Amino acid sequence: MHEVYICDTTLRDGRQMPGVYFTLYECVEIAKKLADIGVDQIEVFSPGYVLKDHYLIRELNKMGLADNLLVWHRGLKLDLEKSINTRLDFGAVALSIATEKDHREKKLKMTKEQIIENICEAVSFAKDHGLYVSVNAEKSVGTEPEYLINFANAVSEAGANRIRYCDTLGELIPHETYNIISKLAKKIKVDLEFHGHDDMGMGVGNTLEAFRAGAKWLDTSVCRLGERGGFTSLEQVVYNLYKHYNIQKYDVTKLAELASFVEKVSGINPAPNTPITGLNIYRHESGIHAHGVLKDVNLYEKVRAAEVGIKEGTMRDKIVIGETTGRQSIIYILKEFGIEIEKNNPIINKILSKIQENYLFGRKTSVTHEEVVELYQIFSKKNKIKPLTSITEL
Ligand SMILES: [Zn+2]
Repeated sequence: MHEVYICDTTLRDGRQMPGVYFTLYECVEIAKKLADIGVDQIEVFSPGYVLKDHYLIRELNKMGLADNLLVWHRGLKLDLEKSINTRLDFGAVALSIATEKDHREKKLKMTKEQIIENICEAVSFAKDHGLYVSVNAEKSVGTEPEYLINFANAVSEAGANRIRYCDTLGELIPHETYNIISKLAKKIKVDLEFHGHDDMGMGVGNTLEAFRAGAKWLDTSVCRLGERGGFTSLEQVVYNLYKHYNIQKYDVTKLAELASFVEKVSGINPAPNTPITGLNIYRHESGIHAHGVLKDVNLYEKVRAAEVGIKEGTMRDKIVIGETTGRQSIIYILKEFGIEIEKNNPIINKILSKIQENYLFGRKTSVTHEEVVELYQIFSKKNKIKPLTSITEL
């Protein structure tokens, strides 16, 4: 496969997610962690647009990350001028303008020619100041193909280094993305970047197909932060590039730490079954799965916690007891507490029945290992059966 570069937009598109507000310190920390993973570009807002980004870029300059920055602007010379006048240091800029018909006519009220004229003026101005330029064709999806090619070739002649194909509303499906990007790649002279929102859950699939079709630059966001249904996940793209295409330039062992930091400071609570970094990647409840894992972890785990930097703990931490638990898990847990029990011992069935009864009556949490031992003690002593702790709380 061809070379690949990641532009992470957690600090730009991610911050456009309603209700997510990072402090300056948190932005700096996220940028630092992205750089540690090896992300090629970190996208931030223009200092003239968001006050915090003036100070953020200044801090990142002090940390020697100027060359890793992509500073986003509207595709106007005026906006770029403001950023340049701050005398802050950044290696690259994004210049964004919509190309799709409705956006042109209803929002911008500009003709096709005016759009090209404006963006080319901004690109030339950026190049005169020695900047690397990514031109963003906002709402590329739905733009007339011929116009998009003319647009891309015009900005390329003005000096743009790449064009960002934007699935602004996350409306593509992977095979469609492959067709569009492969056709476009053959007809334009600049590098292609794919920017995929995740409204329909296709962000990662679309991004990987764009890569396969020839896009060199892929846009991501940590924890899928982004508008509406979110943005393409950095964790998932990096891990899949590593697993399926043997791309080793990014440090996958730092993904969980970064995701965990972003979860904390963004205030979002990701589901435990989140791909790649969710805690359930190493936890098992169902009888068949837990039995398999007790024999060989690889039977039921493809993504391994240690690969992405999650401390998975011991086998005991892996086995979760609940409604779908089977006999082997009970034998294993009791053994962990020093209780050897034959596999045909009827107490096992009594314990499992009692656990299932709990869930019939509405229990919402897993059964702790201590509760399993408590049940064993109750049944083995033939005492009157007490309900489990949580049942009494109902
Ligand atoms: Zn976007």
